[in-house]
Amino acid sequence: MTKTKYCSACAEEDISTFGELYWHRLHQLPGNLICPKHDLWLEHSAVPITHSNKHAFILPTTSNCDLTIGRKANGDFLQQLKEFIHQAEHLLNGRFENQSFSHFTEFYQYHLIEKGFASFKGQVKQKELHIAFYNFYSKELLKSLYIDIGDTQWLANFSRKHRKSFHPYYHLIMLNFLSLNVDSVFRVTSFKNNPFGQPNWPCLNALCPDYKESVIKVVTIRRCEKTKKPIGRFACPTCGFSYTRKGKDQNKDDRYKFTRIMDFGFLWKKALQSLLNDGLSYREIARRLSVDTNTVIKYEKIINSESGSKKEVHKDNDLVNIRRNEWVQLQKEYPNLSKTQLREKRPAVYAFLYRNDSNWLNVNSPERQKVETINNRVNWLERDQEILEKVQKVVEDINNKGGKPKRITVKTLGDRIGERALLENHMDKLSKTKEFIEQVSESERDFRLRRVEFVILEMKEKGEAIKEWKVLKKAAIKAEFYDEVRDIIQSYL
Ligand SMILES: [Zn+2]
Ligand SMILES: [Zn+2]
Repeated sequence: MTKTKYCSACAEEDISTFGELYWHRLHQLPGNLICPKHDLWLEHSAVPITHSNKHAFILPTTSNCDLTIGRKANGDFLQQLKEFIHQAEHLLNGRFENQSFSHFTEFYQYHLIEKGFASFKGQVKQKELHIAFYNFYSKELLKSLYIDIGDTQWLANFSRKHRKSFHPYYHLIMLNFLSLNVDSVFRVTSFKNNPFGQPNWPCLNALCPDYKESVIKVVTIRRCEKTKKPIGRFACPTCGFSYTRKGKDQNKDDRYKFTRIMDFGFLWKKALQSLLNDGLSYREIARRLSVDTNTVIKYEKIINSESGSKKEVHKDNDLVNIRRNEWVQLQKEYPNLSKTQLREKRPAVYAFLYRNDSNWLNVNSPERQKVETINNRVNWLERDQEILEKVQKVVEDINNKGGKPKRITVKTLGDRIGERALLENHMDKLSKTKEFIEQVSESERDFRLRRVEFVILEMKEKGEAIKEWKVLKKAAIKAEFYDEVRDIIQSYL
């Protein structure tokens, strides 16, 4: 029969302070073995915790507590047990505001991310967490605190969304494991740990009209394989320039730094193309674009491979000149027609130039009519709002639907709302819609990463072992993109 516990040193003190003994609440905590004040093992008195007469109250006395025993506590887990008891004492003595499940969920998620046990999206690395946790605590300690070491599920449940309350012991050992304390868990703060601060972020392409302007609303974050540091990927909606930065940011100026350029974007490529067309040397082009010569050579190749036929045509400068000439003549013939009307007159010429020489075409066409009637503008505003709402609804549906991820593009959205032509041809008149779509649409790369994550999480849920080849197959990743997604798969192994 379990007996009431006492510390003989505390008892001696109680006698001299109060003239009598009392049962210390802290000593009675289930699983507690020590008096943290005196570092003595607790002793068992002669008084059972449960008595046949449940109303009986038996005081500790020198006859049911042997005060001559004082065993110095020692052992590997003593320090951890002491910390645990300290936190428990604090919890018993303090007054704490009740907190919701979602508060605990957010609190632990925040700190698991901080400690590297979860991705920045909050995906917990269960295996790593499990290993670290059971390395941190000895089995004896956990056993003594009645934490069932055979049951590993609790740790997974605890680190995910809290849907029920957990025994305070679970909280206490988790807090100690994460080097936190009881006060911190009850402190009400917002848990936002974006290592790159709050949006928006600047474009870092010197050629972009939005250079150093905060136009990037979304950052995708993953963790560096080697250093475990966060790596943010930013893409400018204006020019397509995309860069990464290793975090976390230490100060405001870090926002204007990048670790690597992932993609120079279409604006930069256009500038490069026109410099190449002008016949400048690689070195001169590199100087003008503030990059090294190798980058110029590399991107020339990329540009050429992106438009195989375009290259052929560009070599044939004569044809370009003929078409340019035709376009100029057409404008002389019809000086009052708009670009669209001219296009209707000679669709083939327009299409050719649009495909092969769009920079020139933009500059050498009638300016868009700046003075629109107020009516017209209002109509577009209304139309914008109407289309925006439809598009938002569709995006919400796609995101809520679950199941296989679907890539969000202008094309898919246009098809879904039955306005594909409008979105593809008049996006510049639908500014709110445009902004929204830019925020939610994904590059093919982002979409690949999302597919991979989806497949991994699905496999985990089903309890399947995560094998790289399996993930690649299920997510339908083509061989040429294996390298790109390997990191993210690794982070789940
Ligand atoms: Zn004591
Ligand atoms: Zn930009």
